[in-house]
Amino acid sequence: MAKTVLGKCPNCGENVVIGKYGPNCSAKCGMRFGYAMGRRLSDQEVETLLAGEHILLRNLTNKEGTEYNAYLTPNGVQEYSYEKDGETKSGIQWKFDFEFPEDDELPEEEPPFGNIDIDDSELPFN
Ligand SMILES: [Zn+2]
Repeated sequence: MAKTVLGKCPNCGENVVIGKYGPNCSAKCGMRFGYAMGRRLSDQEVETLLAGEHILLRNLTNKEGTEYNAYLTPNGVQEYSYEKDGETKSGIQWKFDFEFPEDDELPEEEPPFGNIDIDDSELPFN
């Protein structure tokens, strides 16, 4: 089965393909595409970012519990690492420029069914 290429990896320049667990770099360089701000990104959103265009994340919540919206524009990549279960996980992730639009600057709300969780079992295998 042909792989769907979403764009070029911002870290190494190889193709980004949709794998079993979502978008990943065909060179497996360690770049992690599928998340931003703790959100799971859709393949469409990843494709938009790979094209260098911004995405809008709605209803993010800050530390005080206040909801806000943010435009994320890709601005290179950065290394990350964190501890989980006594192990250090590390890799490379998006680096973003943020813009915080006022409510009245937002495009019209998408229908609520526009953001359905992807069923991984239906994605093509690597
Ligand atoms: Zn890569």
